[in-house]
Amino acid sequence: MGRKSYGGWRPYVPVAERRRMAEKKAAKMKKAGHDLAPIEITGRKIAATFWGEAWCQNLEAYSDYANRLPRGRTYVRNGSVIDLQIEAGRVCALVSGSTIYKVEIEIAPLAEKRWGEIKARCAGQIDSLVELLRGAISAGVMAVVTRKGEGLFPSPSEITIDCSCPDWATMCKHVAATLYGVGARLDHQPELLFTLRGVDPAEMVAAAVDQPPAAGKGRRGRVLESEGLSSLFGVDIDMGAPSGEDDATPAEPATRKRSAAAAAKRDTSAKA
Ligand SMILES: [Zn+2]
Repeated sequence: MGRKSYGGWRPYVPVAERRRMAEKKAAKMKKAGHDLAPIEITGRKIAATFWGEAWCQNLEAYSDYANRLPRGRTYVRNGSVIDLQIEAGRVCALVSGSTIYKVEIEIAPLAEKRWGEIKARCAGQIDSLVELLRGAISAGVMAVVTRKGEGLFPSPSEITIDCSCPDWATMCKHVAATLYGVGARLDHQPELLFTLRGVDPAEMVAAAVDQPPAAGKGRRGRVLESEGLSSLFGVDIDMGAPSGEDDATPAEPATRKRSAAAAAKRDTSAKA
């Protein structure tokens, strides 16, 4: 018995076969010299960390997307997103379906005013870049960065989608899978959210350092060494210069550097 065909729709392809096809195509592309960064979901959830989950929840919070996104869940889970790259203002992905589709999603950079407001609202509340990226942040900071339309996450009006398949206009499975794939990627590389929005996460910490300590709060902001972050997240992080005015705190001297492990330990004890 042949596969069912619904009108003009393509035949249904079972999940196992789809996965096998995706693996075969990915292997072929790798052999041809393509450096692929596939999305591999191993756990029950597509995204499990604060940043990854917040990315998915943000998209699902918009009614324009809520109906269309679910179709991408199976796709991203079964390994169909064989490549996903995030750069400033852009997400590019290759998604395996009946052929390999090319997805391009443009995300508007965070408006300067909005970024300034986020930094001002979080000033003095973020102890370190490590904590920020790990999502070890206060409920107050979480509320600021996840605020609909005002936080770090894009709204549909800031997102432009494109896919090489014929159904892309209504947000196809490939685009939906790619959007979920971004959430999964943020689990491992949360700094890519900031890259995507064209802002430097260190500024959120720097902004905290630049502020005078709040009354009754003796704790001073800390700037973490970049090498510790690099080893923790496996990426290169440019700490950049403080964005403040003339009274900005100078960069910390090298003598105050410490290991990421020590920083993590201290950060944990400071939270208790
Ligand atoms: Zn598509």
